[in-house]
Amino acid sequence: MVPAFFDARLPLEPPWRRWVTRALVLADQAARRTVDLLFPPACPACGASPPDGLAQHLLCRDCLEACWPKPEPACRRCGVWLPVVGDQSLSCPHCAARRDPWPLNSVCFLGPYSDVHREFVLRMKHRTHEALVVAMGRVLGDYCRVFFGGEAPDAVVPLPVPWRRRIAGAFDRCAILATLVAGELDRPYRHILKYRRTPRKQGMLTPHQRRLNVRGAFTTRGRYVIKGKRLLLIDDVLTTGATASEAARVLRASGAARVDLAVVARAMPPSASPVPPTNPSRTDTNSSLGNALRNA
Ligand SMILES: [Zn+2]
Ligand SMILES: [Zn+2]
Repeated sequence: MVPAFFDARLPLEPPWRRWVTRALVLADQAARRTVDLLFPPACPACGASPPDGLAQHLLCRDCLEACWPKPEPACRRCGVWLPVVGDQSLSCPHCAARRDPWPLNSVCFLGPYSDVHREFVLRMKHRTHEALVVAMGRVLGDYCRVFFGGEAPDAVVPLPVPWRRRIAGAFDRCAILATLVAGELDRPYRHILKYRRTPRKQGMLTPHQRRLNVRGAFTTRGRYVIKGKRLLLIDDVLTTGATASEAARVLRASGAARVDLAVVARAMPPSASPVPPTNPSRTDTNSSLGNALRNA
């Protein structure tokens, strides 16, 4: 039997319609090329318009190289640089010294909270730099693919913004980052967490005050099944870890099998210092960006 979509009784598309469609497509392509020629796409980080255009990550090659992770050995569990070359144990001195259990299984980050990564994170707080947030979301997602390898999470979860700050016009950069990371990992984006109350801003608080400030601040949305899931939290920066670890604690208490964190930058304690690269977990072996940089 002839399938319905081959039914001869259906009217054929007249030739003039195909020609018009083709002409419109060509006109659209020509218009885009003209706009690119007159106003070359600029790197959202440095503003340069490279002659060979922007890479798929929307940054110029120099900015990509500057923000791509350097292979300094870091504690997989908390992200702090390891004091001993080749030491990949799960208990770095900082993890060993913790009084509270650390609920994050691993911390994936692009670089330390200094120099270029710090500058990017500070600019990403403003809505005017949304294009930079999108670019960094793609880079972070690409690096997450390398970092997690075959153990990609079940879902990507942004750190939420309190509704009061959202009403006041706060820019939800974590949601944008998480959407792009989810796209790169081909995993669903889930807005699982929400604030039960609005904590004070963390910036001027001591580490102890930060922990007290966010304790009990999060809860989960009831419509999601969390039990047994591997979740990837997304934030822009990890400083003391008070907010991310409280969010992870809530997710674990709701039944999550593991909670990892991915951030653009990780603040290092003053005692931590980079050591020569030996740790393969922070190299660019499998990413499209890593390949692009190597082939440059
Ligand atoms: Zn640039
Ligand atoms: Zn550690």
